[in-house]
Formats: sequence, C-alpha cells, structure tokens
Amino acid sequence: MIEGRHQGDPPVMTTSKEFILGVDLDGVCGDFYGRLREIAAVWLDVPIESLTDDVSYGVPEWNLEPLGGYSALHRFAVTQHNLFGTLKPMPGITPVLRRLSIAGIRIRIITHRLYIKHFLLVAIRQTVEWLDRNGIPYWDICFMGDKTAVGADLYIEDSPGNVAELRDAGCEVVVFANSTNKHVAPPRANSWTQVEAAVRLRFEEWKKNNPDWGNQRERK
Ligand SMILES: [Mg+2]
Repeated sequence: MIEGRHQGDPPVMTTSKEFILGVDLDGVCGDFYGRLREIAAVWLDVPIESLTDDVSYGVPEWNLEPLGGYSALHRFAVTQHNLFGTLKPMPGITPVLRRLSIAGIRIRIITHRLYIKHFLLVAIRQTVEWLDRNGIPYWDICFMGDKTAVGADLYIEDSPGNVAELRDAGCEVVVFANSTNKHVAPPRANSWTQVEAAVRLRFEEWKKNNPDWGNQRERK
C-alpha cells in the first residue's frame, strides 16, 4: 500500500496527458509530388518538363492511364526507385519538429503508406530509414488509412480527402498547402515556419486548459 493511500481509493494515474501533433508524411514532411514527378518521367519515358508540377490529388494531369494508372506508377516508384527513402525533406521541417518536441509536444507520424499489397516491409523500411536519416523526431508512427482512428490534438495534413474526413470527425487540422489542396479552407500553412507558429499558438491554448501538464512533465 502506498503511504497515505487507503484500500478502495481510485487507482493512481500513471499516464500523463500530452499534446499530440499528428503529422502526415507525403506532401507534408517530404516533397512527395516532386520526387514522384522525377520517377514518372522515367516510367513514361518523357522529359520531366512535360509533366506539370501543378498537380491535383492522384495526378490525373500526367495521363498515367494508358500505362496502368496511378497504382502502377506508385508500385514502380516504391519498389524500383526507393520513393519513400528518397523524398526531399520539406525546407525547415527538421529543426521545427525538434523545437516542438523539445517544447514538450509529442510528435505522432500518421501515414497511409501501406498502399501496395505484399510490399509492406519495403514501405516501412524506407519510411523509418528516411525519418532517421533526416533526424526527424517522433515518438509514435501509425500506418493508417483512416486517420480519424488515430488520436491527436492537432493534425498537419495535405490530402483534401483526409482533411475533410478529419474535420468532419471534429478534429483540428492545419492544411499544408500544395497544388492538390488549393481549394481547401483554412487554417493553412505554406511552410514549416508557418506550421510552427500555428502549432505553438494551439499548444499555448491547450496548456491553459491542462494546467497540470507542466508539473506532470517535471515529475517524469
Ligand atoms: Mg499527404
């Protein structure tokens, strides 16, 4: 029996509540469409300049259908060109996430990358190696199609469909701006500098509603 406690007292809570930032990978942490465009030029055997970078979701502008459609390109990109291991990190992402992590925010990567049957190990290995190589801090990684099933206090996301689903479920989302989501309503961020500002603002509000957070943190 712990000193000062009595039989029948409620259990001691051993978990502390944290502010969780749910971070998407493709188009948010890494320049997915930029790298996919390079690989699509190889797949289609066309000059890269002939493929617009002003794409919408699913890249219908690249006329992939005659050669098997988006899924065929995606499979080729992941299995033959290490797509997830070769994305260019978005400018500023690593220092921003490190600062947010040091400030006490829990980084939770949420990605729908298990898209191709029977290539799960390849997709996961490329992903984790990329995160480590780029020094991106995180505590959790969730490979989930249904992002509403993964809890977070704030989500950073670029896919119009995921943003809509999250917002319909009552989740707070900052849209990471790119050509696929021009039509999606704010709040939006054009850079990781803007993400940092938006996250810090929301975190400060959250701390006001969770006054024990600092004490819990010190006890860890
Ligand atoms: Mg994305």
